Amino acid sequence: MSENENIMTNEKEIVSKNFIETIIDKDIAEGRCTKVITRFPPEPNGYLHIGHAKSILLNSGLAKKYGGQFNLRFDDTNPTKEKVEFVENIAKDVAWVGGEFEDRIFYASNYFEQMYEAAVKLIKKGKAYVCELRAEEIREYRGTLTEPGKNSPYRDRSIEENLELFEKMKNGDFEDGSVVLRAKIDMSSPNMNMRDPVIYRVAHMTHHNTGDAWCIYPMYDFAHPIEDAIEGITHSICTLEFEDHRPLYDWVVTELEYPNPPKQIEFAKLYVTNVITGKRYIKKLVETGVVDGWDDPRLVSIAALRRRGFTPEALKMFMELVGVSKSQSSVDYAMLEYCIREDLKLKKPRMMAVLDPIKLVIDNYPDNTTEMVSVPNNQENPDMGERMVPFGKELYIEREDFMIEPPKKYFRLFPGNEVRLMSAYFVKCVSYETDEAGNVTVVHCTYDPETKSGSGFTGRKVKGTIHWVNVSTAIKTTARLYENLTDEEKGVYDEETGEMNINPNSLVVKDECYVEPALKDCKAYDSFQFLRNGFFTVDCKDSSSEHIVFNRICSLKSSYKPAN
Ligand code: ATP
Ligand code: MG
Repeated sequence: MSENENIMTNEKEIVSKNFIETIIDKDIAEGRCTKVITRFPPEPNGYLHIGHAKSILLNSGLAKKYGGQFNLRFDDTNPTKEKVEFVENIAKDVAWVGGEFEDRIFYASNYFEQMYEAAVKLIKKGKAYVCELRAEEIREYRGTLTEPGKNSPYRDRSIEENLELFEKMKNGDFEDGSVVLRAKIDMSSPNMNMRDPVIYRVAHMTHHNTGDAWCIYPMYDFAHPIEDAIEGITHSICTLEFEDHRPLYDWVVTELEYPNPPKQIEFAKLYVTNVITGKRYIKKLVETGVVDGWDDPRLVSIAALRRRGFTPEALKMFMELVGVSKSQSSVDYAMLEYCIREDLKLKKPRMMAVLDPIKLVIDNYPDNTTEMVSVPNNQENPDMGERMVPFGKELYIEREDFMIEPPKKYFRLFPGNEVRLMSAYFVKCVSYETDEAGNVTVVHCTYDPETKSGSGFTGRKVKGTIHWVNVSTAIKTTARLYENLTDEEKGVYDEETGEMNINPNSLVVKDECYVEPALKDCKAYDSFQFLRNGFFTVDCKDSSSEHIVFNRICSLKSSYKPAN
């Protein structure tokens, strides 16, 4: 069975529908749904990552496509791990990614009263009971995949007794872990989730939203369908690991007799090859100082992607390329880079920046002169116009653009060779200076005033063009170059120890990066192409007007080729 249905239109255009859209179309056609309502239900216990972005764009995108509604709901039913700090960051990240929840922010904890009443309703229907087995006994009684479970000795309590005990649980008469409320379903069900699952537990804890109002808290499998039903969610989209929980989801909404019960649909999680998303591992990287926080640009939390210079448009393109499916797979990071390159290439100005400088002196150029030369802002997008860039006798060029003894097919500078300085003149290398260690410090050239770009000079051709930054007007900045955080050859985790294989070169800091003066007033998150060097963005944490810090978003070369 194919998961994506391709619909051919008469225009030969292929409209690809994912399997969820096919389900929704059917629900609409058969009258089960009039307005599509979806939600993104994060637990506020950490930062969102790229996988969450997929869920956000999927849910929000479906609501938009069908003219429905998208809710952001904090699934905050577990007081142990949740923090207010995360709530604010998550809302910000969801909005940035493009989740259009507007003012529809909900909190599962605001439904505690309804959940309590729902539990009472189940008890009154004879469908739930208070159980005094200890956690390990409950586990023993549950049986295994090959053996049925055993009924709890408390299973056949009267409705009255259950109501009384549940009331006592609520009033704080029991210690944590001494009693639970369980759904009465089927201890011999082949689905372990249906063997009288625990639906309420006692926990004397302060909740970030409800304070000390409650000392009983609902379990996820009971709470989630109720949250969905209260909000009128039509399609409750979650990841594959909840597939086996769907019968319980359906049991809860059916027993509670919701008139238009929500429908759970599962899809495969997004995995990106060679990246770390596990909270436990990221925490360790932060604690050991390998990264500078949850938003370190080498991570793929949404905050990190934003700081690295990714855009919501690029993430959307990425998710569309990846598609929605039910089979687990891992997507290459190169595809994500492809998307950001595609997004930025025609939008961002292309500037000159020298990351690893050596000086070039034009011996026959007048001293103390600054000439303005016109440089296109984006060679591929003439609508972006041109800017004037200062040029002079002393320039910075990339160290790798000069070689004393060049190999074959090296068309840049070497003694006797002539190249074009981008948007300026032809220069010919006449000599060079070195320090005591033999490193080149200065390259001497002469220029030919006839060869100015735009002058229509056709006298002769050169094979190489190099970029440059005028010394007297250059701004000294820092550029940070990144590689994969973990070792690509060895894999993310060591098979024996389970430790991460950290790549020692994941961060390279270029502290003497010279850029054009036009970049003087750039602000956090501004991004540019640095000609020949890649796309860069202004770091939001470490950059200031005194000292600009750029993060390389990605290089210009791609290892990913899109199909067709
Ligand atoms: P993690 O443990 O990685 O933070 P989670 O599933 O515990 O993930 P939740 O806050 O419970 O995080 O997730 C919110 C929503 O995001 C859920 O609907 C979940 O299914 C979805 N989600 C989480 N990870 C991914 C992923 N890798 N790809 C797609 N959706 C995901
Ligand atoms: Mg979680």
